[in-house]
Amino acid sequence: MTDQETPKCNHCDAEMKKWLVPPDSTWGSEFMWVCFNDDCAYFQRGWDHMMKTQEIKASYRNSMNPQTGTTSPLPCWSYDALKDRIVED
Ligand SMILES: [Zn+2]
Repeated sequence: MTDQETPKCNHCDAEMKKWLVPPDSTWGSEFMWVCFNDDCAYFQRGWDHMMKTQEIKASYRNSMNPQTGTTSPLPCWSYDALKDRIVED
């Protein structure tokens, strides 16, 4: 796919993981870099933020588009959610 180096999360410095984009998405890339560190401050803060603003128990993980390098929140409803789409190299 690409030979670029694995980027690190700009919130917790953990290596991001390749995450397969669902086929019906419009992200324009076949995978996204996603921080799956459960201790990531971004992910941890997300639970409180979502409860306060949306009154739902959910959070989001830090993700990066490999084409553009743009980071964006990837909605996540549990610690294990989305992990079935991780691509291990
Ligand atoms: Zn992180």
